[in-house]
Amino acid sequence: MRLPGARDTVRMTTSLPPTVAAHVPTEILVDGSWRPARSGRTFEVADPATTQTLFDVADGGEQDALDALTAADGASAEWRAVAPRQRAELLRAVFETITARTEDIAALVTAEGGKPLAESRAEVAYAADYVRWYSEQAVRLDGLARRAPSGTNHQLVLRRPVGPALLITPWNFPIAMIARKVAPALSAGCPVVVKPAQLTPLTTAFVAEIIRAELVERGMPAGVINVVPSSSARSVSGPLLADPRLRKLSFTGSTEVGASLLKLASEHILRTSMELGGNAPFLVFDDADLDDAVEGAVAAKMRNAGQTCVAANRFLVQRGVADEFTTRLTAAFERLVVGHGAETGTTVGPLIEKSAVDRVEEVVAQAADAGARVRIGGDRPDRPGYFYNPTVLDRVDPALRLVTEEIFGPVAPVVTFGSEAEGVELANGTPFGLVAYAYTRDVARVLRLAESVETGMLGVNRGMVSDASAPFGGVKASGLGREGGEAGIEEYLETTYVAL
Ligand code: NAD
Repeated sequence: MRLPGARDTVRMTTSLPPTVAAHVPTEILVDGSWRPARSGRTFEVADPATTQTLFDVADGGEQDALDALTAADGASAEWRAVAPRQRAELLRAVFETITARTEDIAALVTAEGGKPLAESRAEVAYAADYVRWYSEQAVRLDGLARRAPSGTNHQLVLRRPVGPALLITPWNFPIAMIARKVAPALSAGCPVVVKPAQLTPLTTAFVAEIIRAELVERGMPAGVINVVPSSSARSVSGPLLADPRLRKLSFTGSTEVGASLLKLASEHILRTSMELGGNAPFLVFDDADLDDAVEGAVAAKMRNAGQTCVAANRFLVQRGVADEFTTRLTAAFERLVVGHGAETGTTVGPLIEKSAVDRVEEVVAQAADAGARVRIGGDRPDRPGYFYNPTVLDRVDPALRLVTEEIFGPVAPVVTFGSEAEGVELANGTPFGLVAYAYTRDVARVLRLAESVETGMLGVNRGMVSDASAPFGGVKASGLGREGGEAGIEEYLETTYVAL
């Protein structure tokens, strides 16, 4: 069966099984129907490993965005009235379908984003886990009832959905970022308008179709999920942020864009959640288990070729183990295999676009010119696509752009420190505070770090922290609010206090 909105032809399918390609919606989803952009325009989506075009996708504009908001607003009253158990069952069914279609969705994630298939499968499982978690949370929304301290009356605290939400996502995790927003929004009773990243709109469309089909089958309002891909993000966000029918913005992306959206959101005092950029320190202390530290370093650095907000950006290593750690990290990077994500054996895929490779090349060259030592990599492999070789540098000055900016590439700069206090000072020497990693066997030190490192999340002897049941998010310039856990659904709920 062909899905609505799917295209007749695919321009390049070498990395995408034809069975998947035929079922990718490439249009705009409004009120339960896939349709072209009102302008009739499309934009191209390419495979970053080959630079070839995969699909032409409908290019949504202002009117398409407003149509989507009208649909979401129209579905709002009916959706909030749906019994929590029914919302839970819908999400549970979506979880089952996503899980059953793991191979298809993973192929799509790899085709449009480049990551190795094993990572894409892990991303699908991770995303599905959020859908399952929030299916379970739909029936566990708490309020409060108590006697007022004065004893003169009673107090009730009720929770209700905030209303239509605009969800804007980045390209680096095309299913995970959607799942972390759509699942709690629907669970809470909010209809959504999704604006996927221009570079990776295909996975979003595929998953939205799974949700749409489930809604329709259950006789629920299809306008609960709307998707507006666009080559011009502002033409979607601008009119929606100016429209008082929109009650919530949840954004994941760069701090710069997040800050500009916060300004616009202030006009209607819009509820906002912001998952923004990071600059994660990876602290290795003298007492660390170095085998574990290197394994964690590769996991924290190399997922999606270093293009993650939680990527270890700065390796801060205590002097006593710095040489040994760097030598072992270099050896581990030597074993990585750069290639097309769909090729067997690939462990490092391409970067997302040419400008990303140019930028990484520039910051590495600047560091090398300033005296950093390139232990491995520092160049591009000789093949088409946007690739950069896994790179380790030591003797890095922490004032360099390689350390102060998000690298978003497979590059590990090593900076050394002496005392614990010096390590913490280096870790905190950034406007960002999303995640930090620390390798040490000293429990007392772990507790000191939990209190002194300015971070939303701390991975202790672990290179991965994220989990559907835990609050993911940052402090300082890394954002506002949390995704995951009990906190994630709070972002989509209002509080009403009733004095009785
Ligand atoms: P980006 O900010 O360029 O884009 C993110 C999304 O915003 C995309 O959908 C884009 O089309 C849209 N957008 C861009 N300009 C806009 C504008 N002026 N108005 C409205 N929307 C606009 O970020 P990116 O390059 O896609 O993603 C990389 C960034 O995302 C990195 O900084 C990374 O750290 C961050 N990120 C954060 C998290 C997190 O959970 N904290 C997760 C993943 C990525």
